[in-house]
Amino acid sequence: MSSYDVIIIGTGAGGGTLAGHLAPSGKRILLLERGDWLPREPQNWLAQDVFVDNRYVSPDTWYDSQGKAFQPQIHYFVGGATKLYGAALYRLRKEDFGELRHHDGISPAWPIPYDEMEPYYTRAETLYQVHGARGEDPTEPPSSGPYPHPALKHEPRIQQLADDLEAAGYHPFHSPCGVMLDEANMPYSTCVRCSNCDGFVCPLGAKSDAEVLGVRPALKHDNVTLITNAKVIKLETNAAGSSVSEVVAEIDGAEQRFTGDIVVVSAGAANSAKLLLLSANDKHPNGLANGSDQVGRNYMYHNSQAVLALSKEPNSTVFQKTLGLNDFYFRSDDCEFPLGNIQMIGKSQAPMFHGEKPIETILAPMWSLDRIAEHAVDFWLSTEDLPMPENRVALNRDGDITLNYTPNNDEPKKRLNAKLHSLLGQLRMHDHLVPRFAYMKNDIPVAGVAHQAGTCRFGSDPASSVLDENCKAHELDNLYVVDTSFFPSIGAVNPALTAMANALRVGEHLLERLGARSA
Ligand SMILES: Cc1cc2nc3c(=O)[nH]c(=O)nc-3n(C[C@H](O)[C@H](O)[C@H](O)COP(=O)(O)OP(=O)(O)OC[C@H]3O[C@@H](n4cnc5c(N)ncnc54)[C@H](O)[C@@H]3O)c2cc1C
Ligand code: SF4
Repeated sequence: MSSYDVIIIGTGAGGGTLAGHLAPSGKRILLLERGDWLPREPQNWLAQDVFVDNRYVSPDTWYDSQGKAFQPQIHYFVGGATKLYGAALYRLRKEDFGELRHHDGISPAWPIPYDEMEPYYTRAETLYQVHGARGEDPTEPPSSGPYPHPALKHEPRIQQLADDLEAAGYHPFHSPCGVMLDEANMPYSTCVRCSNCDGFVCPLGAKSDAEVLGVRPALKHDNVTLITNAKVIKLETNAAGSSVSEVVAEIDGAEQRFTGDIVVVSAGAANSAKLLLLSANDKHPNGLANGSDQVGRNYMYHNSQAVLALSKEPNSTVFQKTLGLNDFYFRSDDCEFPLGNIQMIGKSQAPMFHGEKPIETILAPMWSLDRIAEHAVDFWLSTEDLPMPENRVALNRDGDITLNYTPNNDEPKKRLNAKLHSLLGQLRMHDHLVPRFAYMKNDIPVAGVAHQAGTCRFGSDPASSVLDENCKAHELDNLYVVDTSFFPSIGAVNPALTAMANALRVGEHLLERLGARSA
């Protein structure tokens, strides 16, 4: 059996970032990743393969609360979901770290204030090469430095949208974006600013993902080992149940065991909860670290809507994800509760529409699919969903994931949609806002697990949380969780930068614990 100082399970936003941070310490680090390297191939950039045929979506089967099977939109690769993500790298708002009243209840406070996370947000923005502009978004939290790279320029139709929003009294801003684009020196730019970024894979390695900027740099250090196609199936503990003694993985159809002084689970919110639940033993009969019965609970994934509007003039934008709007983040003129964030998503392409009923039935009789794509302006609307104990990951008799989820905060979700709809005339668009299911890669809402979070929340009270403030399990002295499971609430902006920043924060704690220096 091989032994390590640190074993990290999963190489996505949390695990991949942590690996990169710990690697220079010289400590022996093992990365166990269930997936393989994502192949660099022409299909990375083909809408039919990526959005219609779900080429990079795992064939996993999960079940809803009625026991109905579905295919979750989940990606098992080195780099995890960040291989496919849109790289919109937002900080949570300062207020998201406190208690916030919502239409359907309370979004709870985090055990640490924003100010404690701030330095790590700054480091994460540097590591993930975020482009942005401070000072445009009135809800923006305080920051200790500028963005490391200038904001991506809007293309003409999106600049028009920004101008029209400003003329209507709103505060559009340049979206924080993690792509390695050097607009001042395009011949040397890694990113070519193409139309196939958000939801696609970048074959150029120009997207700031956890493989390119976390795992690959980590592997330059001899003390770091990565085993791919290594699915961790169980964590075993010592006789007292006080620490993880062995990590059990399935590799090439056989079971292999590893020991680590520290074990970090970062398999994504649903799979981390699954692993802890599967690891029940005499000392932890309800699952590892689950004396509080909180493992798997408080699952959140944003009340999201992908919609398209039709511009009166053609929209020739190539890279559309450059604009955001947070004027309704905390309230609106007619609602005292938070509604959420509006941002652009990758531009529609005709092949993505095949099988999308609203587009075929509402628009296609009047517009051809190509014409719809030519005029489409595509938005992503995120409303916060609140952590509810009954919204949870559980396991069925076969040990498969059952996702029990009842939506909440639907009223603010509808109002956010209505707000955007009411603006369309002023934004030079036709009066339609049409749902986009292909962007969600699935028309079964619960299958859209891209923003999954919250199944092992951190907190100061072991009775109501799984992890302490350092993301160490309250009940085990060497078990940590650094994926989005730790979120006690999800806010209404994209989650990845917060997972990355937190991994750096936990990484600092681990280096101290290991008696190693920060690089
Ligand atoms: C299409 C898409 C677009 C997105 N766009 C954005 C965006 O623009 N901005 C943003 O902030 N967020 C975005 N997200 C969400 C973002 O990617 C996730 O929030 C983030 O990657 C979560 O990080 P994580 O570490 O929790 O999990 P992941 O990144 O999913 O990593 C989990 C890793 O664990 C591995 N794993 C799972 N089970 C096991 C096991 N048993 N053993 C070993 N390994 C295991 C997985 O293969 C994976 O590599 C998007 C996601 C998707 C899918
Ligand atoms: S826009 Fe840039 S980072 Fe995104 S897929 Fe295209 S080349 Fe890659």
